Parts: sequence; C-alpha cells; structure tokens
Amino acid sequence: MTALNAPQFTNEAAAIAHLEASRWPDGVNCPHCGSVTVTRMGGETQAGMFQCNDCRDKFTCRTGTVMERSHIPVHKWLLAIHLLTASKKGMSAHQLHRMLGITYKSAWFLAHRVREAMSNPKPKTGMGGAGHQVQADETCYGNTSKRAKHYKKGHSNKSGVVALVNPATGEARAFAVKTSTSEVVNKILWTNVHGGTTLVTDESKLYKSSGYQKHETVLHYGNEYVNKDGYTTLQTTSKTFLAFSKREWLASITSAASNTCNAI
Ligand SMILES: [Zn+2]
Repeated sequence: MTALNAPQFTNEAAAIAHLEASRWPDGVNCPHCGSVTVTRMGGETQAGMFQCNDCRDKFTCRTGTVMERSHIPVHKWLLAIHLLTASKKGMSAHQLHRMLGITYKSAWFLAHRVREAMSNPKPKTGMGGAGHQVQADETCYGNTSKRAKHYKKGHSNKSGVVALVNPATGEARAFAVKTSTSEVVNKILWTNVHGGTTLVTDESKLYKSSGYQKHETVLHYGNEYVNKDGYTTLQTTSKTFLAFSKREWLASITSAASNTCNAI
C-alpha cells in the first residue's frame, strides 16, 4: 500500500504529473480527437492545460475522467480513490470528509463518482461458461438489531443481496432483492450466468430448482469447506465478497449514525 503522505497525495503539482504519466505513458494525446500534436500551455492560470493543434480544443488530465468539472484538487481525488479502493472495510463519505478536509457534500459526491466508475453498469456478457464455476450466495442487510426502531423478526422483513462470483476471473455481481425466493434467484442466475457453467452454492433451498446441469453444493453449516469433488470456495470467495461488502455498508452506516449524533 502506497504511503498516505506520498507526493501525489499531498502536492497538487506532483499529483497532476503522476496522473499525466499514468494516463499518457506514451505521450499526451487529445481526448477529443486523439491527435498527438498537442501543446502544453504556459502561464499560471493555464497550468496543467493542453491545447490540441488539430481540433484546437483545450483539455487537462482531468478531461474525460471522474474528476472532470470538479473543483476538488487532483491530489485529494487521488487520495480518495486510493482510500476507497485499498481499504477492505471501505470508507464512508463522512470519514473522507474528515481525512481530506473537504465538505461532507463534496466527499459524498466524490465517493459516489468513484464507486460509479468502479461499477460495470450494463455487463454485456454472461458470467462463467463451460469449464467455469460461478458461486452464488445471499445475505440479509439491515434491521438485524432487535433494539432497532422498526425491528421485525424474519428474513422476509430484511433486504436481501444475491452475489455471484467467478473465482477464476474475479468478476463479481451483486443484486439487491426485496425477498430472496427461488423465483427471484433463478431469474438473476439465468440472466447473468451461462447455462454450461458449474454453479456452486450452499445447500439453501433457493438453488434447488435453478436448473443448472452442473450444480455443486458445499455445506453451509458444519465444517465442510471442501465437498467430495473438491469444490471448496464458498468459504473464501462469494462469502468473503458479501462479508466485505456488508462491512463496507456497516462502516458507512456507523459513520452516518455518529454524524447524526454529533449534529444533535
Ligand atoms: Zn484534438
């Protein structure tokens, strides 16, 4: 993990140089027309600006990125991206606001843009395929404390998340569902996972009617981490993915709650 006091996180000129070097390792090119004949503009007010010699448009290293049209300095963006991606527990907007010295509103906007950039909103292809395995698992979010104001017993009163993970490629997709029923889960499976895939799940009834010809189950309770055919990974990937995402969500909520307390 890069030190948090590295120059690109603390100094604006170093941050811009760092971003330019990683964005254009083979030389600057125009994000509007792709031309490589560009001129770095001089003068204090034009620091970091380029002009394209072909289309005459001006641009900076922020153009066409999540940082475009933002007044937050580049070094704060880089530090925020580093914190949001390198921290296993995730980071709330409130924590970013404190660490970066920017307003809560800016921190929220920034975190939202970074998360959006990391997502793949419309995956074009299905996961898995012949010779691949995809693990499916589900968990409940929210309303788990009996002391919570609107606590109601039972899974049907909690929001669910269904997660699909391909351990070979690292691809993961998560879906918020109102209630986890076989019908809901099967619809998610069949719109995201190729038919020839080996589906790996726990012994939940939800997956019994999934219809996948290759379906391996690993015991959820008990001590089975590897089933007789060597399918091992429910403990290490899809569950870990859900655990991390749940912790990230809890971290955000905890900070939101403490924020509210401070405000009172
Ligand atoms: Zn151009």
